[in-house]
Amino acid sequence: MITINEHYNKLQASYLFSDIAKRVARYQEENPDKTIIKLGIGDVTKPLPPACIDAFHQAVDEMASDEGFRGYGPEQGYEFLREAIAISDFRARGAEISSAEIFVSDGAKCDTGNFQELFGPDIVIAIPDPVYPVYLDTNVMAGRTGSFADGRYKGVVYLESTRENNFVPALPSQPVDLIYLCFPNNPTGSTISKEALRSWVEYARHNKALILFDAAYEAFIKDDSLPKTIYEIEGAEEVAVEFRSFSKSGGFTGTRCAYTVVPKSCIAYTAAGTPQALHGLWNRRHCTKFNGVSYPVQRAAEALYSAAGKEQSQHLVDYYMKNAELIRTSMSDLGFTCVGGDNSPYIWIEGQMDSWQFFDLLLDKAGVVCTPGAGFGKCGEGYIRLSAFNSFDNVSLAMARIKEALA
Ligand code: PLP
Repeated sequence: MITINEHYNKLQASYLFSDIAKRVARYQEENPDKTIIKLGIGDVTKPLPPACIDAFHQAVDEMASDEGFRGYGPEQGYEFLREAIAISDFRARGAEISSAEIFVSDGAKCDTGNFQELFGPDIVIAIPDPVYPVYLDTNVMAGRTGSFADGRYKGVVYLESTRENNFVPALPSQPVDLIYLCFPNNPTGSTISKEALRSWVEYARHNKALILFDAAYEAFIKDDSLPKTIYEIEGAEEVAVEFRSFSKSGGFTGTRCAYTVVPKSCIAYTAAGTPQALHGLWNRRHCTKFNGVSYPVQRAAEALYSAAGKEQSQHLVDYYMKNAELIRTSMSDLGFTCVGGDNSPYIWIEGQMDSWQFFDLLLDKAGVVCTPGAGFGKCGEGYIRLSAFNSFDNVSLAMARIKEALA
């Protein structure tokens, strides 16, 4: 008899986006003349930078000739891209990361979801609340949690991000083995200081734990005193893996390219307590289950590191950050407490009401779609997330409508 992995049955069906879609459809039916402005999802709206498009075209042309054609590439990614990443994203920040420690992939979603495969079934995991749901769900699938009750999975240590701690969780009061951190944060838009990140690195070193650091929104950091990579913190290379993505900084959500950094000195332990390098384990996993990102896509990603590409991707980020600033100031002017939007594309807004009530209010009164915070975890209740990924005209119109409706 074929049996299933029953851990899947513990997963909570995510009604979040289908509920949003249903409410939006109903509103549209009742208000056929009203245009709806979507500030809910985290998908980019601007096209790929011209430098990427040129590199993409050129690489496709190469594939059309006998000399230029490429079949399977290295699973870890082509050296031209890995070297560009190591130089610009790490060594330029004083972080000694080599190209051999970089694994190119088709997304930070897959990598943040898959990395937990390297660890034992009984480890204690610490997961932020609210959270990007992939970290939690993939551990549920792997059987590292108990059942779901009262908004939480048993056996998980939740790292609460609340107004009281400025949306940067405190160190756990009990020992944990695997820690997920995401800064700039999705959904709260909060950032972490070097001092606070250092305390996490020290915690991990002291407790033989590992940090999975999701830096998918690193490009949106404007304040240069904030860490752009965890490897700016001394000793992090022994206790942290970092995930990055070209999705938001380069407009690659549909093109798909990202990477994961696994330093060669980063270790975990066998049950007997023998240290083992994660680099070799992840390399084995990556080569067994993944066959590389396509050559044209990697050339397009490499182009983001050219002088023109850097300028164009900065332009993209600046465009969205202008939206973020407008959202943050408009909502603050209306008396709402907001975080994020200054070094991140998300604005987390406290509504003084139920998340879904706030959602309905913005939809019914202003025709604006947000994401209810409760969809990201128990601590998200009472909040909504607004995303800066839309056109400036749409964001301006959305803010004018909200002002008119709520002022
Ligand atoms: N990590 C976080 C925190 C995200 O918000 C997202 C996408 O929204 C991802 C990872 C996924 O990125 P990718 O498009 O590279 O899969």
